[in-house]
Amino acid sequence: MRIAILGLLSVWLTLDSSQASDWSTHGAGDFEQRYSTLTNIQRKTIASLGLAWEQSAHSHRGLEATPIVVDGIMYTTSTWSRVMALNAVTGQVLWTYDPDVPKFWAKRLCCDVVNRGVAVSDGNVFFGTLDGRLISLDAKTGKPRWEIDTLIDRDMWYSITGAPRVIKDLVIIGNGGAEMGVRGYVTAYEKQTGKQRWRFFTVPASPDGPFEHPELKDAVHTWSKNDVWTGGGGGTVWDSMAYDPQLNLLYVGTGNGSPWARHQRSPDGGDNLYLASILALDPDTGRLVWHYQTVPGDSWDYTATQHMILADLSINGVIRKVLMQAPKNGFFYVLDRATGELISAESYVFTNWASHIDLESGRPVETGLADYRLEDRLVFPAASGAHNWQPMAFSPETGLVYFTGRESGWVHSNADDKWFALGAENIDELIGEQKIPEEIGFLKAWNPVTQQLKWEKVLPNVWNGGVLATAGGLIFFGTATGKFLALDAADGAELLRLDVGTGIIAPPITYSANGVQYVAVMAGWGGPAFNTLAGNEALLEYENAGRILAFKLKGADVPLPEKIAPRGSIPEQAELTSDEDILEEGRILYVRFCGSCHGVYGSEPMLPDLRRMLPHTHELFDSIVLDGLYESRGMASFAEELDEKEVFSIHAYINHLANTTRKAN
Ligand code: CA
Repeated sequence: MRIAILGLLSVWLTLDSSQASDWSTHGAGDFEQRYSTLTNIQRKTIASLGLAWEQSAHSHRGLEATPIVVDGIMYTTSTWSRVMALNAVTGQVLWTYDPDVPKFWAKRLCCDVVNRGVAVSDGNVFFGTLDGRLISLDAKTGKPRWEIDTLIDRDMWYSITGAPRVIKDLVIIGNGGAEMGVRGYVTAYEKQTGKQRWRFFTVPASPDGPFEHPELKDAVHTWSKNDVWTGGGGGTVWDSMAYDPQLNLLYVGTGNGSPWARHQRSPDGGDNLYLASILALDPDTGRLVWHYQTVPGDSWDYTATQHMILADLSINGVIRKVLMQAPKNGFFYVLDRATGELISAESYVFTNWASHIDLESGRPVETGLADYRLEDRLVFPAASGAHNWQPMAFSPETGLVYFTGRESGWVHSNADDKWFALGAENIDELIGEQKIPEEIGFLKAWNPVTQQLKWEKVLPNVWNGGVLATAGGLIFFGTATGKFLALDAADGAELLRLDVGTGIIAPPITYSANGVQYVAVMAGWGGPAFNTLAGNEALLEYENAGRILAFKLKGADVPLPEKIAPRGSIPEQAELTSDEDILEEGRILYVRFCGSCHGVYGSEPMLPDLRRMLPHTHELFDSIVLDGLYESRGMASFAEELDEKEVFSIHAYINHLANTTRKAN
């Protein structure tokens, strides 16, 4: 009897330790808490943490992936949806797979050629590609097993940057593109064959249907009849998912409206379901069980696609099954994940679009200060969000949720340009009497029960990495400026700071192999903020050398990337015209088509700074923009969007901008 019990116990212990030693799913379990029970690396031992190995990701742009580790093998993705399998102990590359994403797809993306990782299940590696394919690879060999097209229309500017999740026998994936005029949906495919099981559209196709499923008939009443349906509606499911196996509910977050402004999208108003919402779906059928809309009638790119963490919390003496999210809109939400009931919501940054969330109705109380129908408005938080896709972490030990974000605002304008609101020069006027915060980045430790800040660490740059929490009492994350930090989870005391020279936006993971605990992270700066290097000394000093870094106790020094030559001052450029109208047309077109990659209003971008073009590039300007001369580098042809006259306006504006910023410096 005793032996039998011991036998059972050892089986249980083996299972438990193997689960703890791997990082086998995106969020370290269905609840997506990003918490590890490993304790070799802890407060007392952290000082000797150093490099175990590094491996190149062959990229100079943003790396956002969460590496997956199963049985000593790490699976991760680099830019352009390329997959790598590595020995998790040595970093040796076992195989790579390049899905050959057509380079012209780059112009269809809002936010860099990124990918947030793979899912691994039963010897299969699943991942999405920038051009909308879902692919299954053999985990041993990297050879493809199946590949399917997830897009309903390949001419629309859809993309996939998010990591798929495996729920039972299904692979679940959504898509991105709400800045680009698409209609959001999430789809489940059978993991063995890739056969589609169900699809849930997040917004109706038109006032008259087709209604692909009954939930769209409910939703259509929240859109105005004279809606501009050509905008696609938006509501893309581009990142966050979580799963409760007991309740058998799959949670997905949906994105912003397309176009951004509701008064353009849905002129007679309405909540516009299911934009900016958390949806609880039955994973077997794809039917909606409940929904909670964070921002009814969103006009500010306030997505609810941010990381969702499930946990069981004691609130007012009762254990509640909760779902937690800190979406872009600046409020931290705690929902009952069985019913969708709002338990609490408090602002975690300065917000001026809404004063608070009414707990009775579950709706935000808008201030009117963010209504830009008639005049430009400076809105807090910014469209990039007080917190964006960077994953949070929850420690059951401290009961705190840790996340990086920022205090920042954005000018929304009702200018002609539908997709990207233009900035304003009359900023003081827009501020008016408001006491606005200084633009800063932060890591916050948030108590979800009391809805209060426990502690925070202020960061010099606003665009930093995701977070890992461990039972060693530690919080790990990387910064935009190339530092990898370990903090005391209880009070935020900085216990370790490694200079890695490469800006980090990805979240770290931890795993153990052969009894050694490792912490690993993708280093490579970029993503949504890649058009401005403001305040990022690492990127002005070192190459943005994309790589995977793995750390262990008693590790080595981290080699720094190659130094780059100082950029120097902006050269004087030829003024191509003095016609103010042409320059203004060039400015608007530049902001719309060029700024998201090459920087706006004179900010120093990560990609080529066009103000610094050399004579050779000026000569080729039309060929580059209209003929796709540099398509292999990711600079697609814009012949479908721009004619020669408009390209001239853009060129003239860039040269004029170069000369004005040159004078200003
Ligand atoms: Ca968006």
